[in-house]
Amino acid sequence: GMVNAGPLALSVVAPCFDEAEGVAEFTRRATAAARDVVGEDFELVLVDDGSRDGTWDEIKRLSKLDPCVRGIRLSRNFGHQAALTAGLAASRGARILMIDADLQDPPELLGRMMTQIDDGADVVYGRRLRRKGETAFKVATASVFYRVINLISEIDIPRDTGDFRLVTRPVLKALLAMPERSRFLRGMIGWIGFRQEPCAYVREARHAGTTKYTLKKMLSFAADAITGFSTLPLRFSLFVANASLLVSVATFVYVIWSLIIGQTVPGWASLLGITSLFSGAQMFMLGVIGSYVGRTYMEAKARPLFVVAEQTAVTSAASATNHIDEWVSAVEHN
Ligand code: UDP
Ligand code: MG
Repeated sequence: GMVNAGPLALSVVAPCFDEAEGVAEFTRRATAAARDVVGEDFELVLVDDGSRDGTWDEIKRLSKLDPCVRGIRLSRNFGHQAALTAGLAASRGARILMIDADLQDPPELLGRMMTQIDDGADVVYGRRLRRKGETAFKVATASVFYRVINLISEIDIPRDTGDFRLVTRPVLKALLAMPERSRFLRGMIGWIGFRQEPCAYVREARHAGTTKYTLKKMLSFAADAITGFSTLPLRFSLFVANASLLVSVATFVYVIWSLIIGQTVPGWASLLGITSLFSGAQMFMLGVIGSYVGRTYMEAKARPLFVVAEQTAVTSAASATNHIDEWVSAVEHN
């Protein structure tokens, strides 16, 4: 191939967990699709996420056959999102394609996605029109999951999408500048903004092997997504408190009234009055604590406050007070 002077035009990043049966066919199709679009100016980064089968041997073999193929082996199974992040951190391309290694996302879509970026998009996400070879359970839980997450979080995560995305380098820089440890990448990319466009496709059945997302992994993935993008569950007691406060006040009035007209047994009024008032107060204080814990949690993430897309030029005299550069470089040098 030709010698690359500058950064590569494209990185294709695929996490692989126990994909020994399918990774060769994936590599064949992914490298062919990349060569169609950018010639030799790309790399395919295969991340072995602690596979227990022969995945790493396959990756080593494939990287010897093709200089554009690179392998990274994690020390154990860290999970899909962590493995993908490892590949993204290692990638060098001006544009970066995130794709599953099981050929459920067709690499041949790359050409269309690249054109959308040429036309001004910063993020092109694959939107599944149909999902073949997936259980009704998987499709149903996914649908409920996206409804809930969009209802309770501030960001919009497009439904019927996975992590199949083509992004530009500035978007990747912003993504890698987000320091949180539990990573829900599709939500984080949504948070980053810029121009995000869908690219519709039919999701195929797996080429080989079975799903590596066990129910346990799906649940922890959903928990990461919800807690990572919403503190609503923490503040839930505030809603309960509002309701119980109303009930408390009404009960209290009823207790006093009963006392006045003398329809009480001894001890009843004080017991019910104190219980209703204090349970309302407790719920309320739980909600207040939840609000503070939620904010502490969000602060602890130390995400960038915003992401700058571009700026017009500033005169040198004015640039001395242009503090936004500090933010821009905080993102760019990460
Ligand atoms: N994967 C991974 N680590 C894991 C689970 C999955 O790297 O712990 C990879 C897997 O090899 C595949 C991608 O993540 O390339 C998506 O996983 P899978 O196809 O099993 O998920 P599904 O498509 O069933 O949601
Ligand atoms: Mg899959």
